[in-house]
Amino acid sequence: MSTLVGGRERAELQTLALDAAARLEGRPAEEIVEWALGEFGERFCVTSSFADAVLVHVVSKVAPGIDVVFLDTGLHFAETLRVREIVQRSLPVTVRSIRPEQTVAEQAAEHGPKLWARNPDECCALRKVEPLEQALDRYDAWAAGLRRDESPSRANTPVVQFEQARGKVKVSPLYSWTQADVDAYISRYNVPVNALLRQGYASVGCWPCTRRTPPGTDPRAGRWPMFDKTECGLHK
Ligand code: SF4
Repeated sequence: MSTLVGGRERAELQTLALDAAARLEGRPAEEIVEWALGEFGERFCVTSSFADAVLVHVVSKVAPGIDVVFLDTGLHFAETLRVREIVQRSLPVTVRSIRPEQTVAEQAAEHGPKLWARNPDECCALRKVEPLEQALDRYDAWAAGLRRDESPSRANTPVVQFEQARGKVKVSPLYSWTQADVDAYISRYNVPVNALLRQGYASVGCWPCTRRTPPGTDPRAGRWPMFDKTECGLHK
């Protein structure tokens, strides 16, 4: 494994991320994005699953023109693709829709139909994780919309971290936001929101693996409900 990432030593990026995580804890989302932009410039992007466009909106205020990476698995709800359309039209960002190597039909021909119902880890690896690795090739740092209040598995999300396996710096500007903060931001800025969030879905992913959840339950309980799985493997 190369020790260099975008011309910098891995150890340097690791120290940078650790220092930034300590310094930016408690700081507003915009300041965290400013830090990442100042540090990485065009080698910084934001990812979105278009459950809502809050993170994209926050980042676009600080970094107009920034790349937004969307993993277009071919299995998204129409409502999700609608948010993508609105974002492309209304926010100053460049949406990059990243497709897996195989279409859903090609995957079914090679791995059998409905891989998600038999081996969702493999399906996520093929349709999300591998495409993300390739999409991130051109960046040293990426922002994700992780929040500590979303689930127990996200409760310790750092503001900034160095991902050893990927060799990238990951920034989570919304790490400390609550659902109430998100709702307030959406109403204040009229941010595009996935219509499914108003129809009983607390978290939105691919349609075969997403279900409605009763109010008050873990927001991610509706993802892969038939399996002991709550993450797609994107967040290492
Ligand atoms: S969320 Fe489901 S359908 Fe989407 S990539 Fe993962 S297993 Fe496949």
